[in-house]
Amino acid sequence: MLDRTGQTPVLVVGGGIGGLAAALALARKGLAVELLEQAEELKEVGAGIQLGPNVFRMFEVLGLTDAVSEFAVFPENLIMLDAISGEEVTRIPLGEGFRAKFKHPYALIYRPDLLNVLLDACRKVDLIRLHTSQKVIGVEETRDGVTARTQAGRSYAGAALIGADGLWSTIRQIVVGDGKPQVAGHITYRAVLPTTEVPEPLRRWSMTFWAGEKVHFVIYPLRGGELYNLVAVFHSSRYEEGWDSFGDPAELHERFAKTCEPVRLLLGKIESWRMWVLCDRPPIKEWSRGRVTLLGDAAHPMLQYLAQGACMAVEDAVCLANKVEERQGDFAAAFKAYQQARYLRTGRVQIMARVYGEFYHASGVARELRNMMLGARTPEQAFESMEWLYGEDMGPTGYGRVFEREGARS
Ligand SMILES: Cc1cc2nc3c(=O)[nH]c(=O)nc-3n(C[C@H](O)[C@H](O)[C@H](O)COP(=O)(O)OP(=O)(O)OC[C@H]3O[C@@H](n4cnc5c(N)ncnc54)[C@H](O)[C@@H]3O)c2cc1C
Repeated sequence: MLDRTGQTPVLVVGGGIGGLAAALALARKGLAVELLEQAEELKEVGAGIQLGPNVFRMFEVLGLTDAVSEFAVFPENLIMLDAISGEEVTRIPLGEGFRAKFKHPYALIYRPDLLNVLLDACRKVDLIRLHTSQKVIGVEETRDGVTARTQAGRSYAGAALIGADGLWSTIRQIVVGDGKPQVAGHITYRAVLPTTEVPEPLRRWSMTFWAGEKVHFVIYPLRGGELYNLVAVFHSSRYEEGWDSFGDPAELHERFAKTCEPVRLLLGKIESWRMWVLCDRPPIKEWSRGRVTLLGDAAHPMLQYLAQGACMAVEDAVCLANKVEERQGDFAAAFKAYQQARYLRTGRVQIMARVYGEFYHASGVARELRNMMLGARTPEQAFESMEWLYGEDMGPTGYGRVFEREGARS
């Protein structure tokens, strides 16, 4: 651990899952952190999130496994059905065999619960100070540090700065300057239902999704089975950009008109859906400049088809803290080493998330092929296909092994 009593803090911009994980990971290495969040309150949207075994490996490092597990649901299966015929295509069991293979579980959690676990952990550490209503609008690098200016007219001095400010990152525009993210042409509607409103045959203790033509629909339990998370995705070019607005339910029903009865039944249960216009970016190799770097969606925004954006942000946080410790406070060198360790892994997830999006929404021959290929797999073959993402070695190229060795040393 670094001994830097009386040190200038590291500034973290953004108090989402990535920013809080970064604050915690750095503080556990003995660094002081000032986190600046633009919102009045640190909170997450009221929806579910899936957590792969790879992020549990990071929770171990951060000392969060028990706290997360207290709020998480551990589903029995990942089930995929054809949204038109309603037939089951494949079922991946997440019990003993899965845990034996990946050493950690697959979980489903209510986002506000996950954020609160991180927040509670940060609040228990004296080295972390959290500031809300502080929207960062400018960053200047000085000879031996950085200064962040906020819209509220305050200035914060830091030894270095981490932009964990999400998809629409201000810090990315300062470091990379590559304009707006790409609109995917995919729209997501999300809602949470009390379990009593979910028809009994559809109350599975599993992550279940129906894959259709240019649509898919997801349902899974949350909070000990008190709630069900519902996600409907379809292709549409009607929307330019936007986030967390109320959508047009008529369009939602029209897009799902060809789907099987259970899907339409569940769609009909929701009175108030919230809509997201999905965006991502192509992978990049460099997202650090001097003492300023990026993390999470700010660095590598991805479509949600592999359910990994938040998992990647937490992996980033652990890797970043390891590199800072290794380079003994040479932040510029640490940030270069961090992006070097991360860009192929996060780039692979960005690219593969797009591929899976196409696969889930396939029609015609592609749909038949998908159902045939996935339907023919044994659970062991399915686990093998997930090795690059969830496995301890994180892929055959070795770049994951480097990262994992460092994670294990913490
Ligand atoms: C429909 C959908 C489903 C998903 N499902 C999953 C899933 O199952 N599993 C998974 O791992 N991931 C999932 N993701 C992805 C995941 O939600 C994101 O990747 C993750 O939340 C990114 O975290 P972050 O901390 O990088 O960014 P954010 O959560 O966007 O946090 C950024 C924070 O920075 C703040 N901020 C922004 N600008 C400024 C500024 N200038 N100054 C100060 N503060 C600022 C914001 O207010 C916000 O609090 C999903 C995404 C979507 C859209």
